[in-house]
Amino acid sequence: MEKKEKNQLIQTPKGMHDILPDDYAYFNLFYEKAEEIASYYGFQPIETPILEKAELFSRTLGETTDVVEKEMYTLRTKGGDQLALRPEGTAGVMRAYIEHGMHTLPQPVLLSYRGPFFRHENPQHGRYRSFHQFGLEILGEEKSIGDAMTIQIFHTILEELKVGPAIVRINSLGDKECRPNYRRELVGYYKKYFHALCKDCKNRFKENPLRLLDCKDAKCVELKKEAPQMIQHLCHKCKDSFREVLEFLEASKIPYVIDNQLVRGLDYYTRTVFEFFLDRPDEISSIALGGGGRYDELGKTIGKREVPAVGATLGVDRVVQALKAQKISTKPKKISKIFLIQLGVAAKYKSLSLLEMFRKAHIPIYQSLSKDSLKSQLIIALKLNMAYALILGQKEAIDSTIIVQNIETREQETVSINSILDYIKLHLGESSKSQSKSVK
Ligand code: AMP
Repeated sequence: MEKKEKNQLIQTPKGMHDILPDDYAYFNLFYEKAEEIASYYGFQPIETPILEKAELFSRTLGETTDVVEKEMYTLRTKGGDQLALRPEGTAGVMRAYIEHGMHTLPQPVLLSYRGPFFRHENPQHGRYRSFHQFGLEILGEEKSIGDAMTIQIFHTILEELKVGPAIVRINSLGDKECRPNYRRELVGYYKKYFHALCKDCKNRFKENPLRLLDCKDAKCVELKKEAPQMIQHLCHKCKDSFREVLEFLEASKIPYVIDNQLVRGLDYYTRTVFEFFLDRPDEISSIALGGGGRYDELGKTIGKREVPAVGATLGVDRVVQALKAQKISTKPKKISKIFLIQLGVAAKYKSLSLLEMFRKAHIPIYQSLSKDSLKSQLIIALKLNMAYALILGQKEAIDSTIIVQNIETREQETVSINSILDYIKLHLGESSKSQSKSVK
């Protein structure tokens, strides 16, 4: 390695980011709300490995999708297995459902998951190479109420988080009966304009024509406007299913718009597909906060099993971004007002049990156990704006007492360790207890 390179500061890889404590509070706020709502609807959590066999994704998402073709992080193990960092969660959850025989349980099986996902994309606003998703999957459910329930839960999560009014963009991609006809129509239309397509779309035309509708290139966007629409080519069953989903949304007063060009990036979707956006005039509303759809063919592709299913995910990093933009406050941290100062070996030993005693009483406490002198510990207590210092010296450790100093007035008194909790509770009153949440 070059000397220069060796001396360079090591930073996070491109497109990946740390979640620092302040942002972590927003992630927690999101997960608490999302998991609480999902649990009321009967969802149970599942965790699948971050590394899966690469084939799980190439076979299900589609060899020619951007996610598989361009964005997947793959590696070969020493044993020769080709693995991939999961780029999405649905395929792993379906694999687990089949692998663990969950089809023998009462259907449908409702599963929720969360965690990091990886795509080697060009980092930009709201787009990272490592990001977090919260997902819900309803497996073993063919009725369109499953589609509507998934949408309703995500809509409720966004509403209760108060990120702003959310709107659902929705479309139907048909199924194996009607989609081939539509595909032919689409190819017929684009054949006339092949020369005008962008380079990516020329490939899409050959390999995955539905994805022509996904292109953001200005010329292709123009061409899309006149392209045939799937919705006009749906078979009876797909049409009924789509109508039912829309009726459910209307009954639940969930705002939606039909978006004929919504195809989503992955091959496994059938019938309903949807995405969530914020309906407000700022940058965040131009990117999807989440999306999902029905994937009735996925079970067959993974495990030769018919599993009608529907699911969706929210991009947690983006929801957090929206929460911060709305200046939503997070749950206040438990703020400690007490600083434990220890002097000498016997006091140090006693400190650990003292910290545990305060934890059990739900009173957070600061300390700097590695420091030895009274002065250096008091300086830290002052910097942290502590109200009280508890000073435990050699003598106090032997007598089972502790000195309580009011940092502002410098007044102090000696209290027995047995009664220190009552003393602190009395003097700090309610201020050391946790405060209520701001998002209810
Ligand atoms: P997808 O699996 O592509 O449908 O994505 C579902 C949601 O995950 C999107 O609506 C985003 O909110 C989020 N998401 C997907 N890819 C990224 C990314 N590269 N960076 C941040 N969030 C992402």
